[in-house]
Amino acid sequence: MPSTFLMKDIKDLLLDKSKILITTHVNPDGDAIGSSLGLYNFLIKLGHEVIVVVPNDYPDYLKWMKSDKKILNFSDNTDKVQKLINDIQIIFCLDFNNLSRINELGKLIEKSNAKKVLIDHHLNPDDFYDFKYHDVNASATAELVYDLISYIDDNLIDKDISDCIYTGILTDTGSFRFSSTTSKVHRIIAKLLDVGVKSEKIGKKIYESNSFDKLKLLGYSLSEKLEIICNGKVAYIVLTRKDLLNHNYRKGDTEGIVNYALSILGVNMAVLIIETKDRIKFSFRSSGNFSVNKFANKYFNGGGHKNAAGGSIEDKLSVALNIFLKSVSKNEKQLNY
Ligand code: 5GP
Ligand code: MN
Repeated sequence: MPSTFLMKDIKDLLLDKSKILITTHVNPDGDAIGSSLGLYNFLIKLGHEVIVVVPNDYPDYLKWMKSDKKILNFSDNTDKVQKLINDIQIIFCLDFNNLSRINELGKLIEKSNAKKVLIDHHLNPDDFYDFKYHDVNASATAELVYDLISYIDDNLIDKDISDCIYTGILTDTGSFRFSSTTSKVHRIIAKLLDVGVKSEKIGKKIYESNSFDKLKLLGYSLSEKLEIICNGKVAYIVLTRKDLLNHNYRKGDTEGIVNYALSILGVNMAVLIIETKDRIKFSFRSSGNFSVNKFANKYFNGGGHKNAAGGSIEDKLSVALNIFLKSVSKNEKQLNY
């Protein structure tokens, strides 16, 4: 368990009104945006001057939380952020464990003299922070943000902040299904509902706002591209750039596809392999004992959590696929349970 001693350090750091920057990982997901905006809306209430900077764009189904319009996309506002960062006194790094996870923005943050606070639940964070509130057993970074803000001032948690925290926990627990969904998580959710969160409304925004193209891409992935190897223990899907273009791909459209592959009875690891402009991106999911975090780290320059991780290879699709198939072969025994 993270200690309140560390939370106290962060509380003390926030006693004086400061200029604060909040940032989160590349390709932000529900936890990245939910925890960032939850913290943003809280710090604004405390009277700080705050900006949220994301390394790149995120899916439309996340663009509804309070203060979403305030988020600066670094890839479209590089000069502006470069200027703003000079005055920043505190930087909150949310939902990532390594500055390479925020691309070019990482270099600016590394150089900055601001106090850096890490709030995260990924394994083995790099040592780039001054303060950290970190717990690998947390269901989501949003859970840790909730811990921190309720420790600082419980009374300030309103419906808008609660919506953000709820979204982070909802998405990172696979709708309260993963083993990280502890009784503590349910107690937090109960409090958020008491403040006025409407679970049906948020569920609809997140899971029932598919475009026609997104659903067709899912159908195509399952009917044409799903493969099973390793005696039925590994399922994978490869999507080429052409596949994506044919389905008018928009950010977020491949989200969730990998979970269908994992849902096959007997499959212990599912992999979604996507050909992007400059690299081959891998999404790994496992159920049970096999650590895709270690697997992604060993073969794909990546990382994440034990049962959900990602990585990439900067080469042609054929080369990356070869590496993938070999890495599965090498782990055949460990995948067979
Ligand atoms: P996703 O497959 O949804 O992109 O990512 C699943 C998990 O793996 C997330 O927790 C994410 O932070 C982590 N992850 C995804 N891609 C990478 C990567 O390239 N490097 C590292 N270190 N983690 C990744
Ligand atoms: Mn997370």
